[in-house]
Amino acid sequence: TMAHPKALLVLENFIGGKFVPCSCYIDSYNPSTGDVYCRVPDSGKEEVEAAVKAAKDAFPIWSSKSPLERSQILNKLADLIEHDLEAFAQAESKDQGKTITFARTVDIPRAVYNFRFFASSILHHTTECTEMATMGCVHYTSRTPVGVAGLISPWNLPLYLLTWKIAPAIACGNTVVAKPSEMTSVTAWMMCKLLEKAGVPHGVVNVVFGTGAKAGEALVGHPDVPVISFTGSTLTAQRIVEKSALYCKRLSLELGGKNPAIVFDDADLAQCIPTTLRSSFANQGEICLCTSRIFVQRGIYSEFLKNFVAEAKKWKVGNPSDPTVSVGALISKEHLEKVRSYVKKAQAEGAKVLCGEGVDSLALPADNQKGYFMLPTVIAEVKDESCCMQEEIFGPVTCVVAFDTEEEVIRRANSVKYGLAATVWSSDVGCVHRVARRLQAGLVWTNCWLVRDLNLPFGGMKASGIGREGAKDSYEFFTEVKTITIKH
Ligand code: NAD
Repeated sequence: TMAHPKALLVLENFIGGKFVPCSCYIDSYNPSTGDVYCRVPDSGKEEVEAAVKAAKDAFPIWSSKSPLERSQILNKLADLIEHDLEAFAQAESKDQGKTITFARTVDIPRAVYNFRFFASSILHHTTECTEMATMGCVHYTSRTPVGVAGLISPWNLPLYLLTWKIAPAIACGNTVVAKPSEMTSVTAWMMCKLLEKAGVPHGVVNVVFGTGAKAGEALVGHPDVPVISFTGSTLTAQRIVEKSALYCKRLSLELGGKNPAIVFDDADLAQCIPTTLRSSFANQGEICLCTSRIFVQRGIYSEFLKNFVAEAKKWKVGNPSDPTVSVGALISKEHLEKVRSYVKKAQAEGAKVLCGEGVDSLALPADNQKGYFMLPTVIAEVKDESCCMQEEIFGPVTCVVAFDTEEEVIRRANSVKYGLAATVWSSDVGCVHRVARRLQAGLVWTNCWLVRDLNLPFGGMKASGIGREGAKDSYEFFTEVKTITIKH
């Protein structure tokens, strides 16, 4: 007798408060085993059309609720996700390849917090008012939701980044059509199951699963979706700008990075090294904010490099569900090949690979032999012009180079097309201020990394994006402002 084939998880679109099957599906892989374990709807124009219609129909009721009513619903949804935190974390880890520890401590808690944060912040906005006594006028501004928002998110922090868009959009009174990455759709689908219980009216949150080329473009090109919030690659963003130009849509674009860490001679290495290891390799290096160019001042270069490589070798790679593992699987076979090819190119150019890919051997558990794993890799003696120092690799690969002066390092750090994040390590406050001010990056962390206050703007300069997200920024993005003048 034949062995029972493993039952596949089959997802459905969530439209107008109902789960609806799709006529065709895409295979989704478990990155830690290489097996197909899930089928994701391959939605297109038709499904997007139905979702936009549901969102449009729900808009009048949702937008006329008070901020307090919406806030209570968002808080309830946060509670429900938190109640199922472990199930969400397990699902995110299996679907994405990230470690269970990361999903438990970062992804899902942050998804919960995204709803709580915007549930709170929506209660505290005020609008502007000015008085023009000589004309007998007062002017004030009024803000109203825009309409149906299209939300498109990537695969690296699936529920975390999707909820970072859904929460502010619906808190402001918009209704949404969301399209998660076709490679990581499971937690968004799980969240849909909680919406009704949280009190989210039908049609306020619609989720359409599928590829960027089909579902994503149908959403971007839909005339009734005036606002698109996108997080993903710079290449895709260019396509979205083109596709939406016909309708002059309002766009928020959170894109890639090539983030420098600048380590001055007076840095506290006891803090800098562990944090820079995390900023380079956390979530397999698949975070837009990950460090991938480390500039170390000449005086401590050798000491830094020796310790950094020794510590990098201690990061355990393996089964993501093993709580002692710090590096899980990369998202896909294609992505793993792409990341590896950068290491090969660096070697061909004469750079030195000090640990990881091609240098150390990777021992994997029997079940994970076909998974997409890679060791944390450190490259030195690489030229600034090299593709490894210019392009976003988005994997566990980081380059370490030496510098001499402040002026020089600012110039070199800024010499890439991206401008998302940077870290600066020094105990000289004056130096930290001077350098932070001159770096072309939307976020500069000094003597730390990834410490976030969601109140403040998040986003990138140059090819890293357009617009910012945060308490005030997201509120402004997801509302229309009107100036009203009253003459007495
Ligand atoms: P991607 O651009 O390939 O895909 C992102 C999303 O866009 C997916 O849902 C995809 O299906 C969709 N998409 C693809 N083509 C589309 C099209 N033509 N029209 C509409 N939608 C389309 O990015 P990815 O590989 O999923 O994610 C990795 C990238 O995201 C990296 O560059 C990373 O730096 C970036 N990122 C940025 C931030 C940030 O906040 N700045 C955060 C996380 C990730």
